[in-house]
Amino acid sequence: MKRNRQMAVALCIMGLSFAGLGHGHGGEKPMPPTDRFIQFPDTDEYQTLVVDLHTHSVFSDGHVWPRIRVGEALRDGLDAVAITEHLEYQPHLADIPHPDRNRAYQDALAAAEGTDLMIIAGTEITREAPIGHLNTVFITDANGIFTVTTPPADASDVRAYFESANQWPAEEAVEAANKQGGFVFWNHPFWPAIYPNGLARMETFHSQMIEKGQLHGIEIVNGDTYSEEAHQMALDHELTLIGVSDVHDLIDWDYQPELGGHRPVTLVLATERSADALKAGLFAGRTVVWFKNMLIGNEANLVPLLRSILDVESAAYRRDLDIIDIVVSNDSDATIQMKNLSPYTFEHSGDYLEIPPHGTTSFSIKAPTRLTEVTIDFEILNALTAPKTHPRLTHKITLPEDQVAR
Ligand SMILES: [Zn+2]
Ligand SMILES: [Zn+2]
Repeated sequence: MKRNRQMAVALCIMGLSFAGLGHGHGGEKPMPPTDRFIQFPDTDEYQTLVVDLHTHSVFSDGHVWPRIRVGEALRDGLDAVAITEHLEYQPHLADIPHPDRNRAYQDALAAAEGTDLMIIAGTEITREAPIGHLNTVFITDANGIFTVTTPPADASDVRAYFESANQWPAEEAVEAANKQGGFVFWNHPFWPAIYPNGLARMETFHSQMIEKGQLHGIEIVNGDTYSEEAHQMALDHELTLIGVSDVHDLIDWDYQPELGGHRPVTLVLATERSADALKAGLFAGRTVVWFKNMLIGNEANLVPLLRSILDVESAAYRRDLDIIDIVVSNDSDATIQMKNLSPYTFEHSGDYLEIPPHGTTSFSIKAPTRLTEVTIDFEILNALTAPKTHPRLTHKITLPEDQVAR
């Protein structure tokens, strides 16, 4: 999604500071984990990979060199990033003609050398409405996914170039991406530039691509937007849920990680930490989107992740009282917001509890009688398995035997 920001002054200041960082040789350094790292635990079955599959650089309409995207990804602790330039929309054409559309990928790959960040080759197929924009990742050659049969007379005329490139049917571009083994997803289907009311809707082109098995995912989150309509479309058509930054400027300007913000990312549940496993996880629909304080995913992916995030640290009767003190921990960046659905009431709160990121919270159940076990039952309010639908987690706690009988 294109951002319009007026930050000319800030651009100058940041330009100076970044100029001091790099001297045009060598790659980015591996980063030790910091508070800024986006951190979620693995599930029992899978590794949780943190990825941003939609970003831009100067090689289309972004405002930074690709290596800056690598630096940001390392600072955010991502496992993988893709720089997905618009093939057809090339506003910097006069300054950066780059006939080879793989340049952003190649530059990022060189910058990431020596780190364990995975750089995923990708691009953004860019058409007028109603087709709009589609990303494809895990491609082998971006040059094979666009064609300009009659270049405009003025090679630097951005609009004329875009219109020429749009002559090649989008169906053929999507087909070419698929032939390269690309994972294809529909970008910002709720973009107000296309849908003035912001309501995503299924278009003939996209339903045909889905029928052909050539459209595999959909952005339900892009930048600071979440779409319930896109989420429902994903469920109706079994598309992989994707959340991306679509960053054009700097992650730090858009999300202010120094103040606790973060870019939206897709958490991919993968069999191992590798590009192949990441790709397989995407095709299998094993994703959870991390957006603001929300975790959004299908029940089969989200519930195991929540079970890994939450843990009962301790549970015991308080002295000889019939009150059970319970400590629950949260091994994630999210502030977990929970609503009590069990019949029990709590001593110090109503039906709402919060667990801070990477922290614990305690609550005390007023047991009607001495119990050998107690089942806690919570709705996780900051998680969604469908629009307006929160997952429910139950957990049986066995109480220490010496405490059960008086
Ligand atoms: Zn984009
Ligand atoms: Zn776009």
